[in-house]
Amino acid sequence: MNIREDVSLATHSTMRLGGKARYLAEAGSDTELQEIVNWAKERQLKFIIIGQGSNIVWRDEGFDGLVIVNNIPGKEIVAEDETSATVILGGGENWDEAVAWAVSKDLSGIEFLSLIPGTVGAAPVQNIGAYGAELADTLKEVGVYDTQNDCFESILNESCKFSYRSSRFKSSDKGRYMITHVVLRLNKSRPAPPFYDALQAYLDEHGVTDFTPANIREAVIAIRSSKLPDWRTVANNGSFFTNPIISQSRFDELKSQHPDIKGWPAGKGKVKIAAGWLVENAGFKGVHDEDTGMATWEKQALVLVNEHARSTADLLAFRQKIIFKVDELFGVVLEQEPELLP
Ligand SMILES: Cc1cc2nc3c(=O)[nH]c(=O)nc-3n(C[C@H](O)[C@H](O)[C@H](O)COP(=O)(O)OP(=O)(O)OC[C@H]3O[C@@H](n4cnc5c(N)ncnc54)[C@H](O)[C@@H]3O)c2cc1C
Repeated sequence: MNIREDVSLATHSTMRLGGKARYLAEAGSDTELQEIVNWAKERQLKFIIIGQGSNIVWRDEGFDGLVIVNNIPGKEIVAEDETSATVILGGGENWDEAVAWAVSKDLSGIEFLSLIPGTVGAAPVQNIGAYGAELADTLKEVGVYDTQNDCFESILNESCKFSYRSSRFKSSDKGRYMITHVVLRLNKSRPAPPFYDALQAYLDEHGVTDFTPANIREAVIAIRSSKLPDWRTVANNGSFFTNPIISQSRFDELKSQHPDIKGWPAGKGKVKIAAGWLVENAGFKGVHDEDTGMATWEKQALVLVNEHARSTADLLAFRQKIIFKVDELFGVVLEQEPELLP
């Protein structure tokens, strides 16, 4: 167990901002994770587990407790029959490398989630999704360390309370369970159309008719790379705001004033509107804000980019400019997607 003191958290967020952690430790196994948590409990310290920090914004004050980085490895096929394979992935594995591994075995189910940054262990937290697929589609169960009862257990898919970009790990049981591994059931059959519009359009345009997991992965990577910045070279947290859900009557009103506003049905009398459209039409596409050193990505205004911000306060000031303008113009209050910690 190696516990470091006063560690910069900027290197533990893909936005590369934030103060220091009082303590930080990496957990490379279930046993080590348990030991580290008990070390924090004995000292009555707050503790939190993180992966790659791709969905985290750290405040400038930092974290006055122990930050645990999940490094638990493992990629293994544990059972298979004629149609499917059951795989176990360690929570500390890089998600996209795990997808590449599954695709290399010609297994289907998660290729649509290619190139999503982060770790396997964080994937169930917000039920990661893209191109019409989400983790819950293939997840059988989640292995967790229950920090409340100091024990390891498995939670079946149907008990994870998965919904759109959420789960019990993000809501009712936030902070209680640390995900040590996930068990997925992947298919030996090929993914079948209909595919998500943008994906189908790419496949048509490139004459791809052989829908292997590898071909779908390649298409998803090409589409994502053309739209989103690479977090390894451009500091960002992906989509910075969630798509707001408003009433049908409010949407009709907005639509009469702005005929090109984008919206999708979101349950009875509700419409989900594109946050990207709101940010772009509030005049924030490809903006470089000299006051704060922040910018919005040229090809996707929903992605806020840290060009040379000095602190999280700069990021939050830029965020407020966008929220204020969108509210002023469209009467909609945007909500931040990445978690602001602590
Ligand atoms: C460029 C970019 C594109 C993105 N695109 C998408 C996308 O298409 N779809 C999508 O759904 N998301 C997307 N995201 C968001 C992000 O990739 C996911 O939320 C990812 O699962 C976060 O993984 P992480 O390891 O970085 O988690 P972190 O950011 O480190 O943590 C996120 C949250 O999960 C908790 N957590 C982390 N690990 C564990 C664990 N083992 N057990 C319990 N809780 C844990 C943390 O405490 C925190 O609350 C994108 C982000 C970026 C930067």
